[in-house]
Amino acid sequence: MIQTVPLFRTFASLFCFVVGAATDAAAAEPPLVNPGPPPSDAIVLFDGKDLSQWRGEHGAPQWRIEDGAMVVNGTGSLITRENFGDCQLHIEWAAPAVVQDEGQGRGNSGVYLLGRYEIQVLDSYNNKTYPDGQAGAFYGHAAPLVNAARKPGEWQTYDIIFHAPRTAADGKVTPGSFTVLHNGVLVQDHVPIPGEPTTAAQFKGVAAKGPLVLQDHGNPVRFRNIWIRPL
Ligand code: MG
Repeated sequence: MIQTVPLFRTFASLFCFVVGAATDAAAAEPPLVNPGPPPSDAIVLFDGKDLSQWRGEHGAPQWRIEDGAMVVNGTGSLITRENFGDCQLHIEWAAPAVVQDEGQGRGNSGVYLLGRYEIQVLDSYNNKTYPDGQAGAFYGHAAPLVNAARKPGEWQTYDIIFHAPRTAADGKVTPGSFTVLHNGVLVQDHVPIPGEPTTAAQFKGVAAKGPLVLQDHGNPVRFRNIWIRPL
């Protein structure tokens, strides 16, 4: 009996070695990415210089470029030329430094994934409005977990992980999801996205891919450092 223990151990360690080797062989080595920013595998949608990745809602994109930022100027929303599906998106924005209005009229813009599902951009610093319409909200669906807004005029970040709703062969829709960090703070935690857009989105219906849209809501909101990683 005493002699079987080392023998068992030998078999046990041999088994672990073989299984371990098989597991290692099955797992592909993750690709090397220089984290940047922007990460080396990201598509840069705006680098402060031009609007070549965008078209305008009414034709050529006409937002003003100023100090490395693009500025909403009443010429209509911006729409990416390329379509995207599941993705990680980084975008920086700033509400006007001079406060002129209140509620939804203050620093309003929006980031629409697939041109359909809006993460609200709003100056939510000491600015009351309905919860699912404030900064970091999945507009009309989900209020942010917290209000992580910076002061008007200060640069703010959104990091968005988006999974699109899917339509199966039988027509049944599986919800997508939003995970959003506002200034590095979690505000949407894997929140389900229904298939059909319910806000006033320009793009309708369920789709696997669509453009990224930045809303012109009439307030001179600035954007910079926009990059996306298709997932
Ligand atoms: Mg908006």
